[in-house]
Amino acid sequence: MRTGSINGLRRIALAAGLMLLALAALAPGQVRAEASQAARPLSVVVTTGMIADAARRIGGDHVEVRALMGAGVDPHAYRQTRSDIAAMARADLVLWHGLYLEAQMEGFLKELGARKPVVAVAESLPRELLISHFDYADKVDPHVWMDPRLWSRVVEAVREALVAARPEAEKAFSVNAEAYLDELEQVAAYSDTVFASVPETARVLVTAHDAFSYFGRAQGFEVLGIQGISTQSEAGLQRVAELVDILVDRRIRAVFVESSVSDRSIRALIEGAAAKGHTVAIGGELFSDAMGPEGAYEGTYPGMIDHNATVISRALGGDAPERGMAGRLAAGS
Ligand SMILES: [Zn+2]
Repeated sequence: MRTGSINGLRRIALAAGLMLLALAALAPGQVRAEASQAARPLSVVVTTGMIADAARRIGGDHVEVRALMGAGVDPHAYRQTRSDIAAMARADLVLWHGLYLEAQMEGFLKELGARKPVVAVAESLPRELLISHFDYADKVDPHVWMDPRLWSRVVEAVREALVAARPEAEKAFSVNAEAYLDELEQVAAYSDTVFASVPETARVLVTAHDAFSYFGRAQGFEVLGIQGISTQSEAGLQRVAELVDILVDRRIRAVFVESSVSDRSIRALIEGAAAKGHTVAIGGELFSDAMGPEGAYEGTYPGMIDHNATVISRALGGDAPERGMAGRLAAGS
């Protein structure tokens, strides 16, 4: 009986030992698998570069951001490609602008929203802060990023969407968002300073399409576009003739081209004014609906705003450093 009981205990000990061995063999793998699950970056697909910049800066190491629209891409006309669709299908979170900016993608994005988290971040803005659309009474002007203080509210919406998708990283997202919002306030304050140096009569911005209404409201500029708010509408000869008269009558010295819009109509203005004896220069290229190249300072949202503020104020007789707020703009921009 004694021997039997010892044998029994041995058997139990042996079984327990085997179990421990088995656990020891299993556990590290399981822990690793769980850890990599938690550390796997949140896969975020966004439409515009401006949203991508916010998502990357707020998300840091916790996110992997893919922007569908790169430098020089016109969001009004962009339609999702097959690889975009595949990326969105795999993503944990899709962020788009909304307010009918992505006119050709809206139907697709709304359908996708029934199956996964899809957030139109600019639609978080209260209606009373939005400007009515130039062409459509029932729509609003989507170009809200042109006012960095208004855009800051959209940045908050990006942070909220990231927190909802990965709540355990909330603290990091909030710390990163605060730092990014501080940078946006710095570039907004720089814009205030350089635009205040532009003579009041020269505060007229003439561009190819109406992307600058929010800029105009924020900085007290009159904004005149050749095309409607969407780049899809035809630039009427009538509109060009009207603008030529304004340029000549008010002695406006510069008009601006945009990185994402053809400059054909802007050249028509310059020729029209020249025929009436008034010289108008191209004040520079502005980033309107897309940022500069990825990797460049102008390819970030603060860099885009710094570039526009610097170029506009210098061309219209204001006082701004050639290389911008912090000397980071490309030479000759
Ligand atoms: Zn636009």
